Amino acid sequence: MKEFKAESKRLMELMINSIYTNKEIFLREIISNASDAIDKLHYKSLTDKKIKVNKDEFAIIIKIDKNKRALIISDNGIGMTKEELETNLGTIAKSGSLEFKNANKKQTDIDIIGQFGVGFYSAFMVSSKVEVISKAFNASEAYAWSSSGIEGYTIKKANKEDYGTDIILTIKDEEEYNKYLNDTEIRNLIKKYSDYITYPIKMECNNAKDKKLETINSLVPLWKRNKSDISLDEYNTFYSDKFFDYEKPLSHIHIKAEGLLEYNSLLYIPSSASYDYYTKDYEKGLQLYSNGVLIMEKCADLIPDYFSFVKGVVDSSDLSLNISREMLQQNKVLKTIQSNIEKHIKDELLTLQKEKKEDYLKFWDAFGLQIKAGIYNSFGMDKDKLEDLLMFYSSKKDKLVTLNEYYTNNKKEKDLYYACGSSIEQVKTLPQVEALMGKDKDILLCTNYLDEFVFKIMLKYKDKDFKNVCSDNIDIDTDEEKEELKTLNEKSKDLLAIMKNELNIEDVKFTSRLKNHPVCLSTKGEISVEMEKTMKSMPASENVNAQKILEINSHHPIVKKLENLYKKDPEELKKYSKILYAQARLIEGLPVENSTEITDLICDLLSK
Ligand code: ADP
Repeated sequence: MKEFKAESKRLMELMINSIYTNKEIFLREIISNASDAIDKLHYKSLTDKKIKVNKDEFAIIIKIDKNKRALIISDNGIGMTKEELETNLGTIAKSGSLEFKNANKKQTDIDIIGQFGVGFYSAFMVSSKVEVISKAFNASEAYAWSSSGIEGYTIKKANKEDYGTDIILTIKDEEEYNKYLNDTEIRNLIKKYSDYITYPIKMECNNAKDKKLETINSLVPLWKRNKSDISLDEYNTFYSDKFFDYEKPLSHIHIKAEGLLEYNSLLYIPSSASYDYYTKDYEKGLQLYSNGVLIMEKCADLIPDYFSFVKGVVDSSDLSLNISREMLQQNKVLKTIQSNIEKHIKDELLTLQKEKKEDYLKFWDAFGLQIKAGIYNSFGMDKDKLEDLLMFYSSKKDKLVTLNEYYTNNKKEKDLYYACGSSIEQVKTLPQVEALMGKDKDILLCTNYLDEFVFKIMLKYKDKDFKNVCSDNIDIDTDEEKEELKTLNEKSKDLLAIMKNELNIEDVKFTSRLKNHPVCLSTKGEISVEMEKTMKSMPASENVNAQKILEINSHHPIVKKLENLYKKDPEELKKYSKILYAQARLIEGLPVENSTEITDLICDLLSK
């Protein structure tokens, strides 16, 4: 007896003691494995002329032996060698299920089964013993793998004439499992979960004495069927079966292209991002079929990075089966399909945006970051394609709006205003934002580190420029106000120079744009405070510094105080400068580097 690897053991334990109500999915998993195994042989035979198999004989055969409480699923696919039995069934496969061990430990088995599709091991939900008898294609020996639970498994030589695999499940001896030995029940399960499988799934005729086999599934893959004949349920079931997502997709796109280039495609937009979506482990790609034969599990070239969340299949009769990965990259057919698909996805997203706002918000919540990254990573090259998908938080509407809505709502403004910070609440309290909101301006409140980088790359949306309200080039004052301010700043030139000198920053000046707050921090040039924070938080960051300007509210009583100090006590003025600047940094969420000095200064003042 051999032991299972630790993570397999855990999964087995989950399966054996599962309270998962949907145990019936085990059959779908086993059939799907059988179909994959036939796919592999089919593909091999089409690409290697030496291999001769009769493709009409490909089938999955299901038998019930009530006396032995056995459910047997046989396929004539590629089969497994002794080593393959060991690596494939002794440890959790490389695919989805493996990742479960990294996933949130608090998840119940329900989540795990739903989310990852546990494959082969799901058989243990309904079986007290599982035997796999397999003979690899072209091998001379067959082997039997057998296990009755977490204690371990055995592998022995076996007798099996033809290549392929028999999975023999001994169904658990309790009443609730009896249905898996019932002919009608099994037929229904095949119909329900495995109808789209492209190889015949056969069972013995119900009442026939001659034990003839009949095909249960309809064989035509879903994407080849007529849209009008497919129910939403079928679309969704196909999705969860194929892509192991227990959440219904937000929408599906069924493309049946005819004419110069013929292909069928069935695409899905998931409702949420998988746990690994925003990691480098995530592999994008669509399943690629050539006339119903799977030629690639994840064809990355079919989908641009910014739509990498899309799952689906593409089936084209214009692609040769022999095509290699390298050739695919330059393949014209594939390129055309890719650009067509991309248009369909964008159209579907825009339709959601218009007609199903709730769904679009869900989409944005899950994948908005990817769209922003798409604009940023392409240095704006893909901006035209993606900008209408963008959403931001409008200060006036107090909710997420599309960039286009914001633009339309603020047609009369000269620029597009935005402000950045760590949360909506925090951005709203920024003095500049508060002041502008007081003037009834609408501001895009941004809380993602990428937002500002995206605006900097886009520069404009339609005919208007993006302007950070915390930069010094915001122009909303009236001519009169501007004049007044200019005079004040001129008059206080020397006072401001002392302060600037003391603080060693870009500038210190009076401003009329603040409402209640005494100070704010603005920046000159390309780098804003938020960008400085983001860049500094990156590993191997360069020492990037925003050119900071301390702005002092010209209507605030502090102005008088500063003027007095300037006349009577310039040393004290320097201390005040330090405190005011520290305040401005605090408001912006920047660290106060000389914190001890500042607290001492404040305490000094308090004690006076
Ligand atoms: P997954 O199918 O997600 O890879 P499974 O646990 O369902 O994971 O299966 C593990 C592996 O065992 C498969 O990847 C495949 O290589 C092999 N396998 C399972 N069933 C069969 C079969 N009927 N014929 C050939 N190989 C199979």
